[in-house]
Amino acid sequence: MEKKKSLLDILRQKGYRLTPQRMMVLEAIEASDDHISAEEIHASARARYPYINISTVYRTLDLLKEKGLVTETDLGGGRYLYHPVGKAQHHHLVCGKCGKVRDIDATVFQQLRDELKNKYGFNAEFEHIAVFGTCKNCEG
Ligand SMILES: [Zn+2]
Ligand SMILES: [Zn+2]
Repeated sequence: MEKKKSLLDILRQKGYRLTPQRMMVLEAIEASDDHISAEEIHASARARYPYINISTVYRTLDLLKEKGLVTETDLGGGRYLYHPVGKAQHHHLVCGKCGKVRDIDATVFQQLRDELKNKYGFNAEFEHIAVFGTCKNCEG
């Protein structure tokens, strides 16, 4: 079985020198099956490296974004979630009342995509979209 290349391997191949702090940020992102926030990355890295600063987390995330290695999703209200780009295609439903985030399948936008293509000749790229609204629970 071929092992999937880690973010660490990819950055090393690109010639980046990684400090132990940065490596811990990478490991935290890779270790989460789901999306992870900068605060969660910070908490997880700090468990092993107490002196890690949240600005290191942000700087590392900026680098990863710049290299196209992580996806950033704006959930509104200053909340951002991250995950490695290799993850399966999906989008998010974000409830504006309770803040709950639900993953939805990428196929949901296929029809819209086709329509934009047919009607407007526009090739839409839906990548990791956050759709805002009200969830079933909050709708009452
Ligand atoms: Zn809700
Ligand atoms: Zn996502």
